[in-house]
Amino acid sequence: MRALLSRTAFRALCSILFLAVAATRVDTAAVDKEEEALKQQRVRMVRTQIERPPMGRRPVKNKRVLDTMRKVPRHLFVPLRERRYAHDDRPLSIGHGQTISQPYIVAFMTELLDPKPDHKVLEVGTGSGYQAAVLAELVSKVYTIEIIEALGKPAKERLEKLGYENVEVKVADGYHGWEEHAPFDSIIVTCAASHVPPPLIKQLKTGGKMCIPVGTVFGPQHLLIVTKQEDGTVRGKSVLPVRFVPLVGHDKPAERR
Ligand code: SAH
Repeated sequence: MRALLSRTAFRALCSILFLAVAATRVDTAAVDKEEEALKQQRVRMVRTQIERPPMGRRPVKNKRVLDTMRKVPRHLFVPLRERRYAHDDRPLSIGHGQTISQPYIVAFMTELLDPKPDHKVLEVGTGSGYQAAVLAELVSKVYTIEIIEALGKPAKERLEKLGYENVEVKVADGYHGWEEHAPFDSIIVTCAASHVPPPLIKQLKTGGKMCIPVGTVFGPQHLLIVTKQEDGTVRGKSVLPVRFVPLVGHDKPAERR
């Protein structure tokens, strides 16, 4: 009787174990399938919006930038309610009146910086942390500043959770840059300023590049690529009409002056 019971118990245990293993396999398979689908969405996003974009847009050619755009999980940087639109050809709301830029703009600005593996980069306007993650894949160190604490703190946690150990996030007014870690090989500003902030010019290496949207809140804005000359002055070139949320803080929006 005892032997019979234990045999029954053994069989029951085996069945439970079998079911548990099977369920885990089904779970893993479902996760793998979802990961693959997301990867395919990113591949399509890069092909149709960035590498071979609609007429009127300059294709992004830098292979490292394209590979990175295919790799970074953009859907994890947008709020849950926006997730299904994560790969759409447009900016998305990230709360607090701010937006994550359109995928093309992220890739375009990143290419303009000409990122190299040994570069140290400063970003002003962390937002969701997506642009910082893209840069972190391409350079050795990223310093990023966000003025809204309710965005900066979760972005820092998100980047940590995803394993981006080469990104440092600070909640502050990015107009003043990050003196302690200057000079930077390049600087990217992801909010529109009324002028190029002099502290950022100062913190850029000679020969370094800064990509910054300049203009007014409701008026025209232009994406500038600015290069620092030997004599400390900068030379800027307007590359694209754009629409960004304003840089606030020290550099108040023109309307509020
Ligand atoms: N790069 C972000 C998108 C940024 S949207 C991303 O990949 O998601 C622009 C961000 O700039 C907003 O989060 C806004 O709060 C921030 N910002 C505006 N003025 C700023 C300032 N003076 N210093 C730092 N961040 C600023």
